[in-house]
Amino acid sequence: MPIPAGRSVDLESKGRLVVMNCTVVDGTGAPAYGPAHIVVEDSKIVEIIRPYVPGAREGIPFEGFAPGSDDRVVDAEGGYVLPGFIDAHAHIGGEKQTPDAQLVYDLWIAHGITTVREAGSLRNGLDFVVSEAGRSSRNEIIAPSIEPYVVFAQGAAEELTSPASIDAWLEDVKGRGAAGVKFFGARPDVYRHALQRAREMGLLTMCHRAQTDVLRTNVRHSARWGLTSVEHAYGIPEAMFIDKKIQEYPLDYNYVDEQDRFRALGSLWRQAPEPGHPAWSAFIDELVDSGITLVPTFVAYVASRDLTHAKGRPWHTDFTTGVLSRFFTPNRASHGAYFFDWTTEDEVAWRDNYQRWMAFVREFYLRGGKVAIGSDAGFIYNVFGFGFVEELELFREAGFSPLEIVSIATLRNAELLQKESEIGSVEVGKDADLLIIRDNPLRNLKLLYGTGHAVYSDEGEKRCVGGVETVVKKGAVIDARETLERARRAVAAERADTQSEMY
Ligand SMILES: [Zn+2]
Repeated sequence: MPIPAGRSVDLESKGRLVVMNCTVVDGTGAPAYGPAHIVVEDSKIVEIIRPYVPGAREGIPFEGFAPGSDDRVVDAEGGYVLPGFIDAHAHIGGEKQTPDAQLVYDLWIAHGITTVREAGSLRNGLDFVVSEAGRSSRNEIIAPSIEPYVVFAQGAAEELTSPASIDAWLEDVKGRGAAGVKFFGARPDVYRHALQRAREMGLLTMCHRAQTDVLRTNVRHSARWGLTSVEHAYGIPEAMFIDKKIQEYPLDYNYVDEQDRFRALGSLWRQAPEPGHPAWSAFIDELVDSGITLVPTFVAYVASRDLTHAKGRPWHTDFTTGVLSRFFTPNRASHGAYFFDWTTEDEVAWRDNYQRWMAFVREFYLRGGKVAIGSDAGFIYNVFGFGFVEELELFREAGFSPLEIVSIATLRNAELLQKESEIGSVEVGKDADLLIIRDNPLRNLKLLYGTGHAVYSDEGEKRCVGGVETVVKKGAVIDARETLERARRAVAAERADTQSEMY
């Protein structure tokens, strides 16, 4: 049974729109500038008006500018405008996880996410995701733009082992609207052929390498064979092993037991050469040269290093449905619900694992490698929208500056989608995908959480600041706060319906 799609809404995006008096962080990595007025016609930025800047094109004087009487105006006085965020690893979910697609879209929009790379059409199938992408692109629903990817061999009538069968499947999904293909692993000859053929056809590729396939093909093979992006970290430490070929698994390890799987993952990076080791450095150079992108999704695994934090995230109360809460709670049926008996030792191992992982990603970036920011929300206590902001904070922890982080979450992520000429920055000619926030998110990334950032007076009085206020998506103006409130109401109703509390 297909899950209910996003509900129709009346989203007016015709005519001129002026975002006035804002400070712009444009996504290219340039420092903030302002005041500025951004003029949008239909879905495109047509002019950015600001006081004289040396070398800038002479345009309408900032002071003398007045919007036309028919213009839609958003006064962003005192606020910041950023390009809409792109979540490079996102899932709409499905029946047992997120039966209400609109709730997921609302949480994304409420956090300024205007584009998502849907990582595999896992539960609803490609046709559903393509159809939702179409409705979103026509602004028929409040939702980010959706880039549909499909899991390799999904829906194939036969095992894809011959080049002809692989080619036919790729032709089929491309014809049905897939932008890319997601791999979990495949026989090396199949994987190699599929990667190369996809590239020739203009299909992008991503791979979450399953441990069962990592000996036969790791990230080194993927890079050589033209994979577009590596998801998470699987296959990276393994490609650097110098004193072993196979990860040291506990001898009673069972891959199907996810607690075994994620516990063993916690000691993976320290089986690889230390940061700075010649083999570590050489592998980074090799990866950088290949042009591959790393999409670490740090946030997807933080529960492993601090389960108390992950379960106690304050937004669970209002934004995690009963269905999702049950999906997160340890059980054998859901992916990522593996904390049956998670110990101090597991968490400490994972903290060390993170330091090595983050050092690798940072060094890769510094040497010219491409990295992307994605949340993989919907699994492991990771909530849509909120998880994306957590990922920004984790990039900060990994050593990236706030300005670098914004440029990765916008323009660099757009490059991953090969859409950098259309989206990802606040520049003339780009699509009007913007987020407006009443504070400076570079100063504190926590301001980007939909529920804002709590500050307390000396008297202990609490005040919430920040939170994205307005989102412009392809010229349509969306009240981000109202969107968040709609999500809150939807979750409350669902909780009442399913009679469920957070587990
Ligand atoms: Zn994923």
